[in-house]
Amino acid sequence: MTKWVYSFGGEKAEGTGRMRDLLGGKGANLAEMANLGLPVPPGFTISTEVCTHFYAHSKQYPGELQAQVEAALKAVGMLAERVFGDAANPLLVSVRSGARASMPGMMDTVLNLGLNDASVVTLAKTSGDERFAYDSYRRFIQMYSNVVLDIDHHHFEDILEAMKEDKGYILDTDLSAEDWRAIIAAYKAKVQEASGKPFPQDPRQQLWGAIGAVFSSWMNQRAITYRRLNDIPESWGTAVSVQAMVFGNMGETSATGVAFTRNPSTGANELYGEFLVNAQGEDVVAGIRTPQNITEAARKAAGSDAPSLETLMPEAFARFVATTHLLEKHYRDMQDLEFTIERGKLWMLQTRGGKRTARASLRVAVEMANEGLISQEDAVARIEPASLDQLLHPMIDPKAIRNPLAIGLPASPGAASGEIVFSADEAEQLRNIGRKVILVRIETSPEDIHGMHAAEGIVTTRGGMTSHAAVVARGMGKPCVSGAGTIRVDYAAQTMVAGGVTLKKGDILTIDGGNGQVLQGAIAMVKPELTGEFATLMGWADQARRMKVRANAETPQDARVARSFGAEGIGLCRTEHMFFEGERIVAVREMILAETEAGRRAALAKLLPIQRRDFAELFEIMNGLPVTIRLLDPPLHEFLPHTEAEIAEVAKAMGVAPQKLRARAADLHEVNPMLGFRGVRIAIRYPEIAEMQARAIFEGAVEAGAKTGQPIKAEIMVPLVMTKAELDVVKANIVAMAEAVAKETGVVVPYEIGTMIELPRAALRAGDIAKSAEFFSFGTNDLTQTTLGVSRDDAASFLGTYTTRGVLPADPFVTLDQEGVGELVKIAAERGRATRPDIKLGICGEHGGDPASIAFCESVGLDYVSCSPFRVPIARLAAAQAALGRKAASTA
Ligand code: ADP
Ligand code: MG
Ligand code: MG
Repeated sequence: MTKWVYSFGGEKAEGTGRMRDLLGGKGANLAEMANLGLPVPPGFTISTEVCTHFYAHSKQYPGELQAQVEAALKAVGMLAERVFGDAANPLLVSVRSGARASMPGMMDTVLNLGLNDASVVTLAKTSGDERFAYDSYRRFIQMYSNVVLDIDHHHFEDILEAMKEDKGYILDTDLSAEDWRAIIAAYKAKVQEASGKPFPQDPRQQLWGAIGAVFSSWMNQRAITYRRLNDIPESWGTAVSVQAMVFGNMGETSATGVAFTRNPSTGANELYGEFLVNAQGEDVVAGIRTPQNITEAARKAAGSDAPSLETLMPEAFARFVATTHLLEKHYRDMQDLEFTIERGKLWMLQTRGGKRTARASLRVAVEMANEGLISQEDAVARIEPASLDQLLHPMIDPKAIRNPLAIGLPASPGAASGEIVFSADEAEQLRNIGRKVILVRIETSPEDIHGMHAAEGIVTTRGGMTSHAAVVARGMGKPCVSGAGTIRVDYAAQTMVAGGVTLKKGDILTIDGGNGQVLQGAIAMVKPELTGEFATLMGWADQARRMKVRANAETPQDARVARSFGAEGIGLCRTEHMFFEGERIVAVREMILAETEAGRRAALAKLLPIQRRDFAELFEIMNGLPVTIRLLDPPLHEFLPHTEAEIAEVAKAMGVAPQKLRARAADLHEVNPMLGFRGVRIAIRYPEIAEMQARAIFEGAVEAGAKTGQPIKAEIMVPLVMTKAELDVVKANIVAMAEAVAKETGVVVPYEIGTMIELPRAALRAGDIAKSAEFFSFGTNDLTQTTLGVSRDDAASFLGTYTTRGVLPADPFVTLDQEGVGELVKIAAERGRATRPDIKLGICGEHGGDPASIAFCESVGLDYVSCSPFRVPIARLAAAQAALGRKAASTA
């Protein structure tokens, strides 16, 4: 018989923390905490296999499930000394969802299940607190009706608000038992009206309704969106945990809270969390009341006069602190905890690896390694390479003058500017047309995730550091200011008022998630310093790494950035990018449009000194590190003048009539430029262009060598080669030029000539090509286009459908198609090495900065990857993880 249900409680459990796949993260960790002897209310977890079965059998449960649930309920009742369904001694439970990967806020929990008109009376009597009993019952009706019966929660909020207004109450805790009874009557009437049926009184019907709702919620829109954004497969399914209730709303000695064992924003090793007295469940994160700090230190730092848990309930606090230490040691990672205190007794309700900012990730990993809790390699393996991106992005210029309109909580660091929008949909629409927006909301909920994703940053006027907005923004690495209570948002008028200023939708706002400031207009930004833990961790990564990391760069600015990020050379200098700038484009156009070799040479003579200087400068900046320069590659028409004014300007420079120019431009037009007159084809047809470039490279190297006192080695790369013969033609010209420059200057520049492998034919003939090429650089952008027969520029209309439907596992222009394009890379590497064992192999496509593709490069044994300057740190870390054979588990 299949086991579908796993019990926990009484300091032991049938499951363990390793059974995430089967029990979901929440269920596995509840079992683990029970096994550790921690105070966990007893319960059981219905496995993810039931979810799979449920969807495979038109929403039917396996036959044995009901009996197993009954047996588990009985066991829970024994431990809790209560009986489920017994009105005289009711066992109340929560029904909780939990998938393998944490999906915060994605699926809803129902609390206080088992209450009905009879058992609420018992609860009032046994607790000696009527108010508590009826508060619990109305919460249950509200949650159950919303989650299971699908009745919108605003109906219930309206009823409650009306009562509060009527009685002049401010807080929910102002309501008496009598008031709650009246509310319950109104709630039940609402349920009857909305669903046509009375609120279910049978606890077993309630339970199965809630279990079904959890499984059904696996397919709700929120969950589907979250899975899509986080690459979580649908096949995993969710588990359901049913757990005996403990009550944080049993008066002033009860409380509920959430905490992180370290600061999730900065990573500082300090307990960090919030709680509310006399509250239940999600009250803390829902932003209904302002939560209090757990520690005295945090309370003082926040300047709050609401007492901390440390002073209010010192015994429960001490027990809690000890538990946080135990859990952090046990899991060897920063934990995110949920707990409840019932009449002074601490209960643990959840633990999981805490979501954190990239900065916190780094600090926690480095400090834990220094504390000896994990190894340096563990630390390297823990950081999600892509998350480093957050650290490489701008902060507000320290010299900028700041006059904040409002100050909220520093919920997620980093700064951002953008147009104000007040809805998630609007954020997404504007983002889709390339605009930058700041999403301003009173509070956010899971329905807003797509808008948060689209926004540069998020502001909320309500909610604490653990509010939905704060948690999600930190996970996404977006700046967020939460709980900026002095801002008044008016959704209807599409305005926000703060600091005496009224801002409309579309006005520019800047936020600083590092200190909670909200500022009017766009404020100057600067790049952050890459020192401290960042430098330490990158140092550890560099020790672990085998492949070198170079950058794709052609401007001095990019080259400097690349070096500051630790690039070990330039893997791809696209000379054509140097052709567009300023005055030189006119000379480039002259060269292209010239009809004779003499005309071309005249134009090239103007370009030579410019290119020479460009190369010399790059060589100087890279100071002896390798620089690979690619000869002119793109189709010539890309440089042509478009407007009448541009045509007139070039015509004048060339001394020809504009119409002649237009005709020549029309001659150069190609039906399919991607496969047209470009790359090595230009160098063969017009050798004088390659000659000029080779001369500029060698002369530039001589110049830079004289300046830096370093011998400069040039790597010259010929693009789009399909045969050895092509390479040989161009190579002969380059060799001749090297000799000429050596003779003229008396300096012999060491150099290598290699080729791009970016056509399937070149990959297949790599053994032959390697006879002439001293290095290969895999140009995987073109190799992907030519292998798949997909033009990247034309792929937008169908590629999205391919990836969402799973026809392709990922966008092949982002993550290398390992099966197809990767096979060609493997073949070329093998055949190239067979001819020339010491051939240098690298990759210079977009894929050079993609962690999954970098892991592939490691497996093929490439010597280096080359990527855009801003991705260099990401590539260094990804290359280290690839060498360690470990992939970061995503906690950021
Ligand atoms: P989520 O996945 O959204 O965090 P949870 O299942 O953790 O949902 O439930 C949300 C909150 O409900 C918990 O943080 C806890 O405060 C409360 N809760 C859940 N189960 C119980 C229980 N058995 N007793 C008391 N409170 C509970
Ligand atoms: Mg929740
Ligand atoms: Mg939870």
